[in-house]
Amino acid sequence: MSNEFPEMIPRTECHSTRRTYRTKDSRYHMKGSYCTDCGEKYFPPRQGLRCPNCGGRDLQDYYPPKRGEVLTSWKDDVGYPATGYTDFPPRTIVVVKLDDGLHIISEVVEMEGELVEKGTPVKMVIRKHKREDTGNWVYGYKFALAE
Ligand SMILES: [Zn+2]
Repeated sequence: MSNEFPEMIPRTECHSTRRTYRTKDSRYHMKGSYCTDCGEKYFPPRQGLRCPNCGGRDLQDYYPPKRGEVLTSWKDDVGYPATGYTDFPPRTIVVVKLDDGLHIISEVVEMEGELVEKGTPVKMVIRKHKREDTGNWVYGYKFALAE
């Protein structure tokens, strides 16, 4: 802690600045990839050159819909922040089924550990995740209750 950064900055698992830059499209826009041969979708995007489903080589960028519904939720309340994160629990973690069928595990903001009913509509929002090793904030997607 310091005057400049009053909250706790865990140094054990900080995001590196370069890794943060390389993954920004996935965190800001939920960029994934899909195979043009078999149609399989991947999130986060495949790093390899081949589709593990069919072996095809033509993987294209894919941006899934930013809305979906909750399949299940649970309370993250172990008493300390997840490694590298500065937010203290309780947090609400959910499995979201996006409108195109992709499943994503994420956090629902402003719920403070309250469970979310199955089928509740949610939308993607950008929120602070954690600190880089330089002290800068890493932003990324989370979900919020949709109207
Ligand atoms: Zn494929």
